[in-house]
This record gives sequence, C-alpha cells and structure tokens, in this order.
Amino acid sequence: MQIVTTVDSLRQILKPLSKEGKVIGLVPTMGALHDGHGALIKESVKDCDITVVSVFLNPIQFGKNEDLDKYPKRLEADAKFAGSLGADYVFAPSVQEMYPDGDPLTLVRDETLESLYCGAYRPGHFRGVLTVVSKLFLISGCNHAYFGEKDYQQVFLIERMVKDLNFDLQIHRVKLVREDSGLALSSRNEYLSEDEHSRALGIYGGLKQAKAAYEAGERSVSKIRDIVLKSILAARGIVQFVEVVNQKDLQKFSGMLAPEDKVVILVAAFFGKTRLIDNIELN
Ligand code: AMP
Repeated sequence: MQIVTTVDSLRQILKPLSKEGKVIGLVPTMGALHDGHGALIKESVKDCDITVVSVFLNPIQFGKNEDLDKYPKRLEADAKFAGSLGADYVFAPSVQEMYPDGDPLTLVRDETLESLYCGAYRPGHFRGVLTVVSKLFLISGCNHAYFGEKDYQQVFLIERMVKDLNFDLQIHRVKLVREDSGLALSSRNEYLSEDEHSRALGIYGGLKQAKAAYEAGERSVSKIRDIVLKSILAARGIVQFVEVVNQKDLQKFSGMLAPEDKVVILVAAFFGKTRLIDNIELN
C-alpha cells in the first residue's frame, strides 16, 4: 500500500500499468473510512488488478456553514484499512494539488437534479461532487469506479454524467451498508452523541415500516411518506426531506403507485447538528 499525493506521480504509476493491460479500479472517498467504504474497496479488489482509493476532502462540495473544518481526518489509519482489504494505492492530494488556481472555473453540473433533494439544501454540492469525480476519473484513467447507494442521488448523477460525457469507464453501485443497529454507516455518525445515535435509529425504523406497508399492499405515496416522517419525528429528528421517488429518473411520485413503478424513499434528517441521509428501495 502506497500513499500518493500528487497528480503527476499517480499518473506516472498508473499509466504504465494501464498500458500493460492492468484493469484499474477507483474508489473515491472523503476519508474516515468505515465498513461502508470497505464494501466498495472489496468490490474493486475483486474486479480489478489495481485498486486506487482516493481520500480527498473536497472543499467545493461543502457549503459555507457545513462541516468541512470538523470532518474527521485520519489518513494513516485509512491507508492501513484500505491496504488490509487489498487496495494498492491511496491517492491523497492536497487542496492545492487538486485546485492549484483556487476554486475551479470549469464545473460539471447536472441541469435538473442538482437542485432537488440533497441539492435543494446544499446548493453547489453536486457540481462540486461531479467536478471532483470527473477530475479523479481523468487523473486515474480508471476502468471501473465504485460508489455506494448510501448516496443514492449522487450515484445516480454520476451514472448519468458518465453516460452524457462518454467517460470510458464502468460505474458500479454498491449496496448501502448498515451498523448492526440499522443506522446507515457514515463518517458523520462520529458526530452523534449516544442519545442522538439511538434516536437516529428512527430513520431506518421508519424506512423499514414503510417498506413493510408497501409489501402489505399500501400504494398511497402520502401514506408511505407519512410513515417515515412520523418515525423520525417520534425520535425527535428534524426532517429535511422524505421523498418517494422513481429509481429510474429520481422524479417524485404522487397519488397512488402503479405496479410497475420502481420506488425508492430518500431521506435527510438532523439529529442534533448532524445531518444524516438514508434510503430504501421498496421493490
Ligand atoms: P464519502 O467518503 O462519504 O464521500 O463516501 C465515499 C463513497 O462511499 C461514496 O460512494 C459513498 O456512497 C460510499 N459510502 C459511504 N457510506 C456508505 C455506506 N454506509 N454503505 C455503502 N456505501 C457507502
């Protein structure tokens, strides 16, 4: 396991490997790695000859009042963890290395979904994500890249970007990994107090109840949505959004769901100062 910190040195390592025909997998992360990231790394190691895990806290995807400064950082431990799962390189550039001229003036944007759901509450977030992910694709020349369904809107936008811009690589979706308690694993869970952590289980509790209701025949979008809302409110969470949306285009459903509708519920809620996201596919 080698930590690489510059664009040039990563290219110098990966280009010859690529020429030899080695298949390169990329796992983009912001660090503070946990078993959710681990699932992505394992997939890449299984599919690819070389796995590169990027650890970059991307400032342009954070809003002014968000948690950029307090986000947990532990590069050495991350490199050890990634290496223990079979990753070959950790790419950990500085902000100066990624954005030598300051915030980039060329940005990758999604015209429609960047202002919905997470994007509605985090203006500029998705253009920051799509821009840095594009840079990482171009820097690494990867053949495969791995993203978690924990960030459901993000992986959808990345898949669409790859298609729209003809990136020559394959995106892999990895299922959301939860703690035994049911809480979706997230680097931000470290911010939760014990009390907030136990209350935050109300998110998955509500999602599971909604799925059970769907499986028992409930097709009313508002009733399904209310089940999740009630569970989070009962746990004294502050709901940012609960939306019942189409897996295929992430557009909101309303009224009654049809049998052929592919449905996912997207949630964002605060417990204390910590914003958590989660989702569940109903079918
Ligand atoms: P982050 O470091 O939070 O930007 O996440 C990096 C990648 O790991 C993204 O593709 C996330 O969707 C994925 N990821 C984070 N947490 C989980 C989880 N609990 N289950 C599956 N994937 C995850």
